[in-house]
Amino acid sequence: MKLKKNIALVLLSFGMVSLLAFSNKDDVGNGKTQKTLKRIVIDPGHGGYPKPSQGNYGASSEWIEEKDAALAIAFKLKKIIEESIPDVEVYLTRTTDVFDNARVKASKANDFKGDLFISLHCNGQDPIPHREIVDYKTTTVKRKGKKITKKIPIYHTYYTPNPAHGTETYIWGIGKNDEKEEAIGEQNFSDSSIVNFDPKDPAQRVAISLRTEKYAERSRLLAATVEEEFTKQGRVSRGVKQRDYKGIWVLQAVAMPAILVEMGFLSYPEEGKYIASEQGQQEIAEAVGRAVKRYKFSLDNKMNNGKTSK
Ligand SMILES: [Zn+2]
Repeated sequence: MKLKKNIALVLLSFGMVSLLAFSNKDDVGNGKTQKTLKRIVIDPGHGGYPKPSQGNYGASSEWIEEKDAALAIAFKLKKIIEESIPDVEVYLTRTTDVFDNARVKASKANDFKGDLFISLHCNGQDPIPHREIVDYKTTTVKRKGKKITKKIPIYHTYYTPNPAHGTETYIWGIGKNDEKEEAIGEQNFSDSSIVNFDPKDPAQRVAISLRTEKYAERSRLLAATVEEEFTKQGRVSRGVKQRDYKGIWVLQAVAMPAILVEMGFLSYPEEGKYIASEQGQQEIAEAVGRAVKRYKFSLDNKMNNGKTSK
């Protein structure tokens, strides 16, 4: 009895899921083969500023600068994706050492009508200061009319690299869903029911919120897959993260699933040298590329399950 009820429930929810899938026009088959992933935006973080003290320079190290690592790996990732996923278009938000603010980057990605946004960054942490006594000097002081000699330590400060290391992938915080909905509402999807978004229209609000949830789910899936691929390569993964209190503006400003990959800490010598090396850059690009391929495979599978099989 109970079992039957459960089966009925599962069938019912399965039916609802298929119904939902079909209610999103971009997922509906129209006789042609539908592609789940057509346009990918790669966003190499930072760029432009010549000195670490300036603006949004990013992390700096003796091995490589974050802006240069991000650009080099972005080019490699573009090549890998184009070679491994046929018919996909890859767009880079910058191809030279220039700076665009997040607003410009987001509108470039939205104008390109991307299906996926991947921002590439490196972490950096300040070194840890240590103070040690290296010598003493003696001085004479007067106390209650008496002269006394005092020993005063002489300190030397030295720094050791910050022990923080590993990769981490960010998705937009759940607290930023409103902003994501706004971005999705403003985007004119050519294949969508959400045209001329009217926030007062309850049907459109539902459509937007469904799409936001779908993008959140896809972003989580890709972020977890990226971290899994890093782990397979023997990297230390710090996991999938959200930055709710501050947010990462660009992630919620693009009307598509979006992740930000922190590819390692430049401040941790082993990782800094790895990220600076040709082999390290290639391996990082391959890990992200493989994750994108698996992500696409999973979306294709889901879509085919929602349709009658051939
Ligand atoms: Zn950065």
